[in-house]
Amino acid sequence: MSTDCDVIIIGSGIGGATLASALAPTGARIMVLERGEHLPDSPDARDDVAIFERGVYRSSEEWLGADGKKFLPGNYYYVGGNSKFYGAVMYRYRAQDFLPRRHLRGASPGWDLSYADMEPWYARAEALFRVRGTAAEDPTEPPRSGPYPHPAVPDEPAIRDLRARLGKAGVHPASLPLALDIDAWLRRGKTGWDAFPNTGGAGKIDAEVGPLADALAHPNVTLLTGAQVIGLETDPAGGQVVAALVRRDGRTQRLTARHFAVAAGAVQSAALLLRSANAAHPKGLGNRSDQLGRNFMNHNTSAMITLNPFIRNDSVYQKTLCFNDFYNDDAGAGAPLGNVQLLGRITGNILKAQVPGLPRPLARAIASRAFGWFLTSEDLPNPDSRVLVRGDDIVVDWQRSNMDAHHMLIRRTRQVMRRAGFPVVLVRIFGNKTTSHQCGTARLGADPARSVVNPDCRSHDLPNLWITDASVLPTSAAVNPALTIAALALKAGKALGDRLSREGQGG
Ligand SMILES: Cc1cc2nc3c(=O)[nH]c(=O)nc-3n(C[C@H](O)[C@H](O)[C@H](O)COP(=O)(O)OP(=O)(O)OC[C@H]3O[C@@H](n4cnc5c(N)ncnc54)[C@H](O)[C@@H]3O)c2cc1C
Repeated sequence: MSTDCDVIIIGSGIGGATLASALAPTGARIMVLERGEHLPDSPDARDDVAIFERGVYRSSEEWLGADGKKFLPGNYYYVGGNSKFYGAVMYRYRAQDFLPRRHLRGASPGWDLSYADMEPWYARAEALFRVRGTAAEDPTEPPRSGPYPHPAVPDEPAIRDLRARLGKAGVHPASLPLALDIDAWLRRGKTGWDAFPNTGGAGKIDAEVGPLADALAHPNVTLLTGAQVIGLETDPAGGQVVAALVRRDGRTQRLTARHFAVAAGAVQSAALLLRSANAAHPKGLGNRSDQLGRNFMNHNTSAMITLNPFIRNDSVYQKTLCFNDFYNDDAGAGAPLGNVQLLGRITGNILKAQVPGLPRPLARAIASRAFGWFLTSEDLPNPDSRVLVRGDDIVVDWQRSNMDAHHMLIRRTRQVMRRAGFPVVLVRIFGNKTTSHQCGTARLGADPARSVVNPDCRSHDLPNLWITDASVLPTSAAVNPALTIAALALKAGKALGDRLSREGQGG
């Protein structure tokens, strides 16, 4: 079957939806193929037991770890992708993240793009996702061409008190940049939003509510749900991608287009391109560099709970504060350690889901005094850390790196929290099932021998193959990835739009 399309986009997450929004005004005929369906609205959407204990939104698709054991990753397949569940933190990478830098164990190679190259795309991405924030508070905030599109989401009273305590403890608390309409979110229910599904269309500006809705307002853009791409075909010489094989309603269809953009998420995009190997591309499509699937990164992250029996936490959503005092160069370590930000409000039921042996009343009592934090350190690219396909299985062999920096970040943060008046500090380091910040498997770079896509996210090997999701991030930095994915997808959209108009396909 021919689709008469100019561009097929595979995946409607941050990367795919943002690319669709960038291309929509060109008039090019765009089809977004999404494996999942629209996330249904129901009472479960704001029920912490349904979400965290019963896992009603989780997929049953398992991946294989390096130890050969299957595991259930925290990966979501819906229209809008993982952003339907995200914490809506929309950070720019810091200017230093684009440069080579030494870490406690190893080095980050830097990008073939500078922060100045990325700044205009970050500004557009912030506008697209209607980011709330303030540039005045965080000493690591990179130079900006303009202010945040909207003022920061306000702290609740308990968080205002926390902010003052942190200031006295010697760090620089700052408002988290958030893609969130707090009034709309709270109208639907008085809960936090981190890991809660964004149903009913209001509140979080995720990939579906933001860029996909903008794209679908154009008559030249269509979305096909329940459409899982199982392979890409090239012409016999391997010079161009010619078709996507799509499984839908139990049948396999062959859809053709002039350009193909893969945005299925860092693990699924790598798996799809590896599975599409053919005689002309025996190691997978776009893999002459042998870097496809390699350099898998996921951030080193921990949850920290800080407690003082005499300080109550009566906040509803909590997640408005961060500090980056250890981000660029911790004085003691002489190396970057990472970012500290609030988690969404931890309720008794959420705590119970994490520690099932805890009696529920005790979990509630602890939660009423707990402030939850999310600590992130950079995971460094390593070609041996990789995604592979074995038969029908996806293997994720994540080789963690730079954990000494993460342990030091935990130590430094613990000291800050004690100075801020929290004698009890509990920490849990997240393991390999937490794949939420997956990236790196189709790294971007100028050198075709060492990267999969060029700085416009176009394959070095196949001129009509684009990759526009977390796969292309050459480094993970230590801030949340979504805004950088969106900024790169907008940059790719400009390059692809220009190409379409040169080919006479755009409007
Ligand atoms: C609970 C949680 C909280 C998070 N919080 C934050 C945060 O606050 N800030 C932040 O920056 N990041 C956050 N993240 C991470 C962020 O959500 C991801 O980095 C981002 O959404 C990745 O976007 P993507 O486009 O790369 O891929 P995805 O979101 O994975 O989108 C890929 C899409 O492709 C579809 N797909 C997959 N395979 C196929 C196929 N074969 N055919 C067709 N379609 C396919 C999927 O269903 C999905 O819709 C969070 C993630 C989670 C899970």
